[in-house]
Amino acid sequence: MTSNEPMDGHGSKDSNRKQDNNLNGNVPMPADNHSARTPAATAAVNRPRATRWSWSRWAELGPSPGGSLSLGRREPNPRLFWVRFVVWLVLAALTLGSAALGALQAAEPGKIRVLIMTGGHDFETNAFFDMFKANPDITWETAIQPAADALLRPKATQRFDVLVRYDMWQPISDEAKTNLMRFLASGRGMVCLHHSIANYQTWPEWHRMIGGRYYLNKTVVDGVEKPRSIWKHDVRFRVHVTDPNHPVTRGVSDFEIHDETYGLFDMAPDSHLLLTTDEPTSAKHIGWARTYTAPLPDSRPARVVYIQLGHDHLAYQNPSYQRLVRQAIAWVSGRL
Ligand SMILES: [Zn+2]
Repeated sequence: MTSNEPMDGHGSKDSNRKQDNNLNGNVPMPADNHSARTPAATAAVNRPRATRWSWSRWAELGPSPGGSLSLGRREPNPRLFWVRFVVWLVLAALTLGSAALGALQAAEPGKIRVLIMTGGHDFETNAFFDMFKANPDITWETAIQPAADALLRPKATQRFDVLVRYDMWQPISDEAKTNLMRFLASGRGMVCLHHSIANYQTWPEWHRMIGGRYYLNKTVVDGVEKPRSIWKHDVRFRVHVTDPNHPVTRGVSDFEIHDETYGLFDMAPDSHLLLTTDEPTSAKHIGWARTYTAPLPDSRPARVVYIQLGHDHLAYQNPSYQRLVRQAIAWVSGRL
């Protein structure tokens, strides 16, 4: 969130930040299956077709002595031919090997299968996803709003154990609401990071799920006027672990972080407080765990964690933050 403008997700002045592909929310994006492809690999797949054509043509035709793809040319230099032949063999082996590795990752048993939902707020994409690439417990896919909500149909979510929310998105259809509640009613969990607390401002059930509320605008709640929540970039502050015995915080000591603070946002009293700070620009409570039971028949309780931290690479690369996110994913999945 930016400090001088309404928190609408479009106001960042950070020059080194990358934007979601659909900040205006009009371009549905398909899920990107990281189990088979990293984001970098996805970018590779999205290169102009000419690149892939030349590779496939080369593979089809085999090594060519003169840099030409044509067959039937006379070989002018036999040594050069064999050098090219060996290089071609090595490249072919590497290509086949990486394809096999991708398939293995996709099928790897025992990993927590995570859907990372983004959209509606810009962020440092590569640094953010590096955090998940480095997590050995998970395989993950990512989807950008509004496609992310659309992906929560019961059949499509069979391949996910956990949702990680890093979106900041307002419109949500009745169908998407039901789908999200169904996902959690199955007992599967959700980790909400940073600006995701400002999702779905007009849907009270979201506030129950996440166990807190950030006010994009002045709001009257139960007859009490709540001022607009605030934020401040580039604050260095100390985070206190209030419950070091909880699976999410285990092994994490009090730590310093350079991050964005949020103030004047609420934590539901039935949340289990994990992290606090005395930084004056921040609310005291900045991380919690809870269980949420969706108002649906036969609903099972779902584990949910909210961590306010996580604005940019200075947070993503903080070892304590990385550990909190990793353990939060494991805990909401039921592995811890
Ligand atoms: Zn932020």
